Amino acid sequence: MKQRNIIIVVMALLVVSLITWGLVGGYSNRGGDEANNLGDNIGGTDKIVVVTSLFPWYDLARQIGGDYVEVSLLLPPGVEAHAFEPTPSDMINISQAGLFIYTGDYLEPWAKDLIISLGKNAPESIALGDGLAQIIMQEDADHEDADHEEHTNTGLDPHIWTDPAIYAQLAGPLATELVKIDPDHADYYNARLDNYRQSLVTLDSDFYQALSTCQQTEFIYAGHYAFGYLAKRYDLKYEAAQGFSPDAESNPQRLKTLTDLLKKYQADYIFAEELDSPQLAEALAQEVGVDILLLNSAHNVSKEDMRAGITYEEIMRTNLGQLKLGLKCQ
Ligand SMILES: [Zn+2]
Repeated sequence: MKQRNIIIVVMALLVVSLITWGLVGGYSNRGGDEANNLGDNIGGTDKIVVVTSLFPWYDLARQIGGDYVEVSLLLPPGVEAHAFEPTPSDMINISQAGLFIYTGDYLEPWAKDLIISLGKNAPESIALGDGLAQIIMQEDADHEDADHEEHTNTGLDPHIWTDPAIYAQLAGPLATELVKIDPDHADYYNARLDNYRQSLVTLDSDFYQALSTCQQTEFIYAGHYAFGYLAKRYDLKYEAAQGFSPDAESNPQRLKTLTDLLKKYQADYIFAEELDSPQLAEALAQEVGVDILLLNSAHNVSKEDMRAGITYEEIMRTNLGQLKLGLKCQ
């Protein structure tokens, strides 16, 4: 077990002790902690309290659960998702939830150990990405640093939600979970599932139609490798500056490869991560003489977007607009 997971397990056992000793009240008011988007009113509600690790699962639970769920997002606004680890207070919130939704071992490596450590205090949980991640990072010279140290992002690509068709598939298992917990509202959840899946089918077909008309089919991303599933779905060639999770430092050889590709493709734009710091994209853009277009990989959202009630579908439609512009589509 990695050291960070040992810390998670120790904290979880401490949380279990606090609950067992009655020092943490069950379903008490945990006071409008806005950073975690937790409502004040979890106590006394007959809604299913759902805690989600990432924004796509937050929105999916909200879209399917509607009036009968109280959904919260574990990530504080704007925080980078891959390096996130839950605090003891997050663990208490997870232990008191009716359902905990996360991606899987590659994105939340702490989740499984946390659930096991919570024992009988663990909520129902679902790892939506289990068995779905298929893209494997190809190790090559570009992805090794000067010391030939293994790249930190080997393994399976966890960013399954960037393909709207895969995202639509995940709505089913989530609805099944809600029906299991709250069978009285099965018809309600299933009706919302049908509606939402229909709008995701439309989203997928809009992506497909628009992206099959482009003059360019290669897109270069000055962030981590988050859009592999989107690229695969719509037959685009995709290169990113980093691997499956954001690196603190960029590999100079990799950046040289990207500048060469931007020149080769005669690109007018480089794409960059919405919530990431802009330095890398700006350096590449200046070097090659291209402009920057933002893409939102939707792991998390800003405080403003959260307040405005932004949805996965809105984020993806904005991304489609950016891709159409950058790749010169009709
Ligand atoms: Zn990511």
